Amino acid sequence: MNFYVMTLFPEMIENGLKTSITGRAIENGLINLYCYNIRDYSNNKHNHIDDYPYGGGAGMVMQAEPVYNCYQDIIKKHNLEKPRVVFMSPVGETFTQDISREMALEEDIIFLCGHYEGIDERVIEMIVTESISIGDYVLTGGELPAMVMIDSISRNIKGVLNNDISAQTESFTDNLLEYPQYTRPVVFMEKKVPDVLLSGHHANIEKWRREQSLVRTSKLRPDLFEQVELTKADKKYLKTLA
Ligand code: SAM
Repeated sequence: MNFYVMTLFPEMIENGLKTSITGRAIENGLINLYCYNIRDYSNNKHNHIDDYPYGGGAGMVMQAEPVYNCYQDIIKKHNLEKPRVVFMSPVGETFTQDISREMALEEDIIFLCGHYEGIDERVIEMIVTESISIGDYVLTGGELPAMVMIDSISRNIKGVLNNDISAQTESFTDNLLEYPQYTRPVVFMEKKVPDVLLSGHHANIEKWRREQSLVRTSKLRPDLFEQVELTKADKKYLKTLA
């Protein structure tokens, strides 16, 4: 999968994503990361890409032309036809695991990172296919949100995780939170790993994990139950918690 990022801070994206699991996926050619500096497409000798907002108000706004020229250069260089262009924005749809999984099926996605007070609306109308927010708070720029999305989407691409089962059992996969995890030693400061996990009895371990997911979800994120398909056994167990 190819990720293209339009940003004023390409080094931030590259430094962040070229490490750990995404870094290995880039090295192995499972994902490609192409960062483009919007400032390189400035049309003035001082390389300015922002200006004062019409109508007044605080801060500066990124101009339409450098963003548009950057986009045109990407689609020409990479032979892209009507690619998905995601604008990172607090006013967008909230990013979820479902969106992440669906986006992992794409071949190419372009991310547009805003900065300052945002980007001239006209270029957003012209090139952006969807706006996505990573939560109800405001960050300095779209770089961290784009990195969050690329990291999450990459985990859903076959081969990126050492063990593809991980992505299938993690929180939100079936709209439940994940069960608690333990590793060695068996006893840590008098706290022991639950016996069932040491039993080697796979069916009991699966049952315990499912029940723990139900407990956690009902305590921490009861809203998620609206989207969960509960089995008869789940419902029976949940009644015991009431
Ligand atoms: N003036 C904008 C507003 O009130 O909606 C906020 C601009 S913010 C300071 C600068 C840039 O950061 C935005 O254009 C966007 O690209 C990015 N950004 C900030 N918060 C974000 C969030 N929660 N999700 C996605 N992108 C965000």
